[in-house]
Amino acid sequence: MANAAAADLVLDTALVKKYDGFGPRYTSYPTADRFHAGVRAEHYVNALQTRNHERPRQPLSLYVHIPFCNTICYYCACNKVITKDHGRSAKYIRYLGREIDIVAGLIEGGPKVEQLHWGGGTPTFLARDEMATLMGMLRGGFEFSPQAEVSIEVDPRKVGADTIAFLAELGFNRISVGIQDFDPVVQEAVNRIQTEAETMTVIAAARANGFVSVNADLIYGLPRQTVAGFSTTLDKVIAVAPDRIALYSYAHVPHLFKPQRRIDVDALPAPETKLAILALAIEKLGAAGYVYIGMDHFAKPTDELAVAQARRLLHRNFQGYSTKPDCDMLAFGISAIGKVGASYVANVKTLDEYYQRLDASELPVMRGVLLDADDLLRRNVIQKLMCNFELDFAAVGSEFGIPFAEYFAPDLAALQPLAADGLVELDARSLRVTPRGRLLVRTVAMQFDRYLREAQVKAQYSKVI
Ligand code: SF4
Repeated sequence: MANAAAADLVLDTALVKKYDGFGPRYTSYPTADRFHAGVRAEHYVNALQTRNHERPRQPLSLYVHIPFCNTICYYCACNKVITKDHGRSAKYIRYLGREIDIVAGLIEGGPKVEQLHWGGGTPTFLARDEMATLMGMLRGGFEFSPQAEVSIEVDPRKVGADTIAFLAELGFNRISVGIQDFDPVVQEAVNRIQTEAETMTVIAAARANGFVSVNADLIYGLPRQTVAGFSTTLDKVIAVAPDRIALYSYAHVPHLFKPQRRIDVDALPAPETKLAILALAIEKLGAAGYVYIGMDHFAKPTDELAVAQARRLLHRNFQGYSTKPDCDMLAFGISAIGKVGASYVANVKTLDEYYQRLDASELPVMRGVLLDADDLLRRNVIQKLMCNFELDFAAVGSEFGIPFAEYFAPDLAALQPLAADGLVELDARSLRVTPRGRLLVRTVAMQFDRYLREAQVKAQYSKVI
């Protein structure tokens, strides 16, 4: 598939209302809610040893979670620690070092790191010497490819041009800048006051320091947001031409995320307004020449994500879309999730548990899942759909040695209503997500999710009884 221009996307509001509920983002399959405590540190060690044995040279992707933030954004759904005490990060870095040492000691065969990402929280909460120490520990434990994509999430409120230059010196070459909305009224409603000047300084500094890709994060559906206000934000963002734009939908679920309780429900835009904002964003991004990567992501046609997608080399992992095929992902820090071969492992969520486990020289794994053959097959199918918007049944069948139509008969039957609504085109050989269905691609992917199907059947069964 060539890239889908954002301008070609069709936002069918009736279909969005019909199908768009809460659904997985499929950064993993099975999804994280299927992880369980039966998967422990020893499973992670086994997975790493199997890897050493079977595919020692397979490249690695590393993720480091830095949980600290200075202030709370009310929309936040991340695992973070709000503090102004910078002493807390010094201790965390020391323990990250222990975790890196243990994991690096278990890796054999000299694989190269192709990707490193620091996420949070706010990675730029760290002092410069802490950042340098952490990067030194990672480079000491692993061998990096000279072409490695090294990325970091930046909060422009606390970062000047000199810090961006420092990040470049440390080897960062991709940057993700949180913006959300420039409208001061919205910023006040979500407790994230961030001037345009602060944001623009960071973006300009990233360019000046040779960063290969600049990503801007926006959120629609925030309190006090209006079509006119967000239109102005979009114009300003498009004017500085980020290589990628992530446009997230705000989901108000205060029972899951405590900070959201501080959001005034009455100030949230009505569903029609939220959809109108999305429609406007798609129109403006399309007019500016961005292509639609999938889910919430847009990119310039020249950006490496768009290029990888055009070559069918796009992948999806816990960081979202990725250009790196089939890396094992080693994840460090609290709540970080890694993937090694046929297993996912998730770390403990709190600092206390993290420190306790590492004090006992144990890997801080809390839960995870071991994939069976069916999971691996479905992970592949869902990934192809999320990245390519199409599926060639014969290709998947021969890759996995299964008769596709027979194996997936219930899934294909479940897709029929979506085909009738024009979200997908389905024939005996292939499935294609239409421009009308692309914004709802996770609804399409959900039809291949065995666990969701089993949960639905169970719910129906309970109702019948
Ligand atoms: S949204 Fe980001 S910066 Fe804001 S509190 Fe959450 S993790 Fe911290």
